[in-house]
Amino acid sequence: MRLIAYRLENVVRLHKEKHYMSNFDGLGLADPILRAINEQGYSTPTPIQAQAIPPMLEGRDIMGIAQTGTGKTAAFALPLLHRLAKSGGGRPPQRGTRALILAPTRELAGQIYACIRTYSQHMGLRSAVVYGGVSIRGQIGTMARGVDILVATPGRLLDLVNQKCAHLNAVETFVLDEADRMLDMGFSPDVKRIAALLPNKHQTAMFSATMAKTVQGLAESLLNDPVRVEVAPVATTIEKVDQRILFVRKADKRALLGGLLKDQEIERALVFTRTKHGADKVARHLEQKGVRAGVIHGNRSQNQRERAIREFSNGRVRVMVATDIAARGIDIDGVTHVINFDLPNEPDSYVHRIGRTGRAGAVGTAISFCDVEEKAYLLDIEKTIRQRVPVFPDHPFHCDVAANDAGTTKKKGRGGGNGRPSGDKGNNNQRRRKPQWKRNAGRKAA
Ligand code: AMP
Repeated sequence: MRLIAYRLENVVRLHKEKHYMSNFDGLGLADPILRAINEQGYSTPTPIQAQAIPPMLEGRDIMGIAQTGTGKTAAFALPLLHRLAKSGGGRPPQRGTRALILAPTRELAGQIYACIRTYSQHMGLRSAVVYGGVSIRGQIGTMARGVDILVATPGRLLDLVNQKCAHLNAVETFVLDEADRMLDMGFSPDVKRIAALLPNKHQTAMFSATMAKTVQGLAESLLNDPVRVEVAPVATTIEKVDQRILFVRKADKRALLGGLLKDQEIERALVFTRTKHGADKVARHLEQKGVRAGVIHGNRSQNQRERAIREFSNGRVRVMVATDIAARGIDIDGVTHVINFDLPNEPDSYVHRIGRTGRAGAVGTAISFCDVEEKAYLLDIEKTIRQRVPVFPDHPFHCDVAANDAGTTKKKGRGGGNGRPSGDKGNNNQRRRKPQWKRNAGRKAA
């Protein structure tokens, strides 16, 4: 009898846990938050959300290892908002904030701020974003009355603090997003300075795509008995992305891109170049060919970047040409294709780039151009992602020299994919439906 009771209790518990994992209602979030996420169409927490939200709601510190695209913003934003809702609707302190979210780039800060606004839209909370590259005056004005949630880049926040226009002694929740990137960009001293200004009692959540030694060190200095949550290491995240390599001569890349973009199946494409100058040239070429294209890179003003992102997000512009730094952290839904006009020399950048598509369960496509000089990059990438990227040789600009060059991949049977010679059209993707653009491109060239 006792055994049966025990089993039943277990069944109930298992059922409850399943319920927890598969819908937001079971997480115990405040009603206005549930309403907002319902309006966003989120029905199921992503794995990082299912893991991070419960301990964060308990007040625990969190070390989250997750990349952009996994739903990590909501993973920290929802419990943060819940905490604000529960701790009462007191006015935020003048020049202070109750929650602080640090992000390495202004683009990421802007994206997080947009999410916070969306998730808190029924809560009557005051939020703000501050970053460099724009006038500080307006930001001083915003901070004067104080805010509930402040999203900031480290440098500008310290400027405001140093000018006595912001203080951090009322922070209850501190989030450090993309900590690895933050350290890469040399923000470690700023982050530590900021952390030292927080009151003793506060909750901290730190997120990073990787757990490099330096990140570990920062985590040890900032987190108190943290719960570690981790989702989808690199190689599994990108499994959702249909990847392909197109060997091409450098001089033919623009023509190839123009040909691809004739296919309307490419609804929203993010095109990556290695240099700012290259990004401008590609965008100009596309505009000349009648394809509306925005550009973002480090030399564009904040206004230009914001406009480009807005037009790309709302679909007015179908193609965005970007460099790596500029595209970091940009969160735009519905990117159907990432096109690597140039292969990055850092394998991690490849992973970050193609992670812009195939988000939150959607299937995306990443097309990479590879010229003869980029073969070494391709090998590094394949080593990192621990998989071979299928080659599509049947396009009008296929370059045999690039495909077979230097005995690098050739030895391993690169050629046309899976060891076939490059001219063999029966490549390793013959089971897949032949993409529209390839049929079009082939006809146009003939
Ligand atoms: P992030 O990793 O925070 O950049 O989120 C990636 C994308 O996933 C964003 O476009 C979010 O709007 C979306 N998203 C986040 N959580 C969910 C969810 N539970 N269900 C569906 N989409 C989500």
